[in-house]
Amino acid sequence: MTDTAPITPDVTTIPRKLPEGPVNLVGLTRAALRQVLIEHGTSEKQAKMRVGQIWQWIYQWGVRDFSQMTNLAKDYRAMLADNFVIAVPEVVNKQVSRDGTRKYLVRINGGHEVEVVYIPETDRGTLCISSQVGCTLTCSFCHTGTQRLVRNLSAGEIIGQVMLARDDLCEWPEPGRRSYDARLISNIVLMGMGEPLYNFENVRDAMNIAMDGDGISLSRRRITLSTSGVVPEIARAADEIGCLLAVSFHATTDEVRDRLVPINRKWNIETLLATLREYPRLSNSERITFEYVMLKDVNDSDADARRLVQLIKGIPAKINLIPFNEWPGAPHQRSDPERIEAFAEIIYRAGYASPVRRPRGEDIMAACGQLKSATERARKSKRQIEAETKAAT
Ligand code: SAH
Ligand code: SF4
Repeated sequence: MTDTAPITPDVTTIPRKLPEGPVNLVGLTRAALRQVLIEHGTSEKQAKMRVGQIWQWIYQWGVRDFSQMTNLAKDYRAMLADNFVIAVPEVVNKQVSRDGTRKYLVRINGGHEVEVVYIPETDRGTLCISSQVGCTLTCSFCHTGTQRLVRNLSAGEIIGQVMLARDDLCEWPEPGRRSYDARLISNIVLMGMGEPLYNFENVRDAMNIAMDGDGISLSRRRITLSTSGVVPEIARAADEIGCLLAVSFHATTDEVRDRLVPINRKWNIETLLATLREYPRLSNSERITFEYVMLKDVNDSDADARRLVQLIKGIPAKINLIPFNEWPGAPHQRSDPERIEAFAEIIYRAGYASPVRRPRGEDIMAACGQLKSATERARKSKRQIEAETKAAT
C-alpha cells in the first residue's frame, strides 16, 4: 500500500558541511555538537565544556549571535562564526485569533512552509508543532492529509519552532538566569502537520533537546506526541523519547476506521490496542489520550461510545473528543452538540475522563486538522476557482 509506506527522510541529523553553507548548530544532539566542535579544532579535553557552554547560550538564553557568548574566548567565538550558524525557521506571517491563539506561518529551507500554533489557557500555554510538510497519510477528515508529503522536517526545524515561538513571546531569560517560573510555553504537542512517527529520529532528537535540563527544560510529561497509529514505532517512542502519547483513534470498528484513518488497513484496531496496552509501562507514563473526532452520523452513535469503552478496557486512558473542524471541501460535518454531550456522558459513566476539546483559533484556521501550507491552499483555491468557472460556463 503506497499511502502508508514508510518514507525515507531526506534530511539527516548527521552533521555535515553542506556545500551551500555553514553547519547549523540548532538541532544537533549533544554528541553531534561535540563531534563538529572537535572536527573544527576543539580538543577532546575541552569539548564537553564547550558543548555545555554553547548549548546553554542557544537553548537557555536564546542567543543567535556567537559574539554574545561572553564566556568563550574571542578567537574561539570567531572560529564559531566562521564555520557555524544558529538558525531557526523564518516566520513569514503571524496571525492572532480573537481568543488569543497565535498561528505562525513558518518558512523552512527550500521555501516550504509549515504552521505552528500557540494556544494560551489559564493554567498552561501549549505550542502545537509540525513534524512534516504535508503528510503521506490521507485521513478523510484532515486538511493536512489533502496535501501530499513534501518532506520531513529536520530536528533543527522541529526544535526551531519552539525557539521562534519563544522569540515572539519574549520568553528567553536574561543570560545568567534560569527559566521563568510561570512559563508561557509550558507544553508541547506534536499535533501540527505530519505524522511524527514517520519522522522518528528527527522528532526524537528535537524532543530530547526540548527536555534537556540545561536548556528549554520541559518535563517529558509536558510533551505529547500524537500518532495515527504507526504501530512498530510506538514502543520505540516509549523507549527513546518517553513523552506522553495520544492516539488518533476516531472509530470503533475496522470498517469505519479503514475509511477514516487509512493506516488502519495496515495496523488494525486490535493490533494497535495490543501495542498501546504496553505503552504506559514502557514509558512510565500515567495514561494514553485517545483522540476521537466527532463526525456527524459517521462515528458518533451511542453504540460507538459503548464499543469504545469496551475496546480500551484495562488501558489507563482519557478520551479527548474533538468536534470536527471544517475546512473548504471537507467531506464531513461536525456532530451536533447534544450528540457530543450524550457520547461524552457514556464514556464518563464508564469511568474515563472525556473532555470535549474546545476549538481554538477557528477564525484564523488554526484549529486541529485545519493546518495546511498557505501556498498550497492558494494553489488549491485557484484550481477550485477554475473548476467552478468551467462548471458555470
Ligand atoms: N498525524 C498525527 C498528528 C497530527 S493531527 C495524528 O494523526 O495523530 C492532530 C489531531 O487532530 C489528530 O487527532 C487528528 O486526527 C485531529 N484532526 C485532524 N483533522 C481534524 C479536523 N478536521 N477536525 C478535528 N480534528 C482533526
Ligand atoms: Fe496525517 Fe494526522 Fe492528518 Fe492523518 S490526521 S492525514 S496522520 S496529519
